Amino acid sequence: FVLMDRLDGSPGQFRNFKKDDFEADWIKVAECRFSQVYQVKLKLWREKCALKSFDGALRIIDEAHNIAKLKFKYIMSIYGLCSEATAVVMEYMSNGSLNNLLASHTLMWPKKFQMIHEASMGMNFLHSMKPPLLHLNLKTSNILLDDHLHVKISDFGLIHWEEGMSKMFMERLTARGNISYIPPETFTQCPDPPGTTFDVYSFGIVMWEILTQQKPYAGCSMTTVLLQVSEGKRPCVEMIPDEKPPECDQMVSIMNQCWDQDRRKRPQFSDTVRRTEALSEVLKIAGPIQNNKNGDMGQKSSYPWLDGILSLLSQKDFGSFRQSVKKEHVYTQFS
Ligand code: ATP
Ligand code: MG
Repeated sequence: FVLMDRLDGSPGQFRNFKKDDFEADWIKVAECRFSQVYQVKLKLWREKCALKSFDGALRIIDEAHNIAKLKFKYIMSIYGLCSEATAVVMEYMSNGSLNNLLASHTLMWPKKFQMIHEASMGMNFLHSMKPPLLHLNLKTSNILLDDHLHVKISDFGLIHWEEGMSKMFMERLTARGNISYIPPETFTQCPDPPGTTFDVYSFGIVMWEILTQQKPYAGCSMTTVLLQVSEGKRPCVEMIPDEKPPECDQMVSIMNQCWDQDRRKRPQFSDTVRRTEALSEVLKIAGPIQNNKNGDMGQKSSYPWLDGILSLLSQKDFGSFRQSVKKEHVYTQFS
């Protein structure tokens, strides 16, 4: 924190906020083993921000200097640090994470395709850095949604591969249930350092979650997932709803390539992003979105399978479906 002294509010400088710069009421948004996220309000800017505080992780806070310089529509903006609270201060994303949205709302296909494309643009931006900025923790809870349900990738650049990394990875898997996003080549005793293909694999899993609105390998133990994924099994593609647009097959083909067992066969985001762009363009709903009678946002489209679906997003209880999934034999979770 030697740098801190010269961090102020002048243009181009990285800000180090004091706890006192925020209004007194900090609203806790989420808490996990290593970090807490609060909604805070800056007295000066009169704007809500998110403050993510890390338990004793000074190294992570140091990294934030570099990632804060990155600006792109589909990645989270970092406003500064709050070293007093070992925290990163960033944009507040009013609609929370994709993880929560997928569980609480039914997304229409154009929105699903658009979200896949936007996430892919965010990742392509990170990988277009020289050297590529690896995320290494891409998952639906690190894809956040703004007021208009556009996505931004968050928590990038905080994890770096170094000696003893495999142990840290294992800790991360057990502590956070992230195992679904880790490519199988990482499960070996002495894995090679990860490259861009690591994130591409995680992105394949994210695509599956968006397309199915399910949790990968639900009800399976970590050991089962480890063994099955090592053998080349992946989340079950049949779980994608039947009433899908024809273009979905091409999305599935991209997804299959992203999570290929052979990491050399996985595409780069520079390639993926072109393909998701084309697919999301085809499905785009033309014209403005209007409020319908129920107050939902929705409209007719040229696609017959969209007709009758009034809302861009509609509340739906997945409870009974989830229950039926749980009862099935665990291996039906793989394909
Ligand atoms: P990891 O620490 O590995 O990224 P995680 O994403 O599950 O794990 P957090 O990053 O602490 O945990 O985020 C937890 C939750 O806090 C997110 O799922 C999201 O709902 C909320 N959250 C995080 N950042 C923001 C933000 N900038 N704006 C609004 N909500 C946020
Ligand atoms: Mg996160």
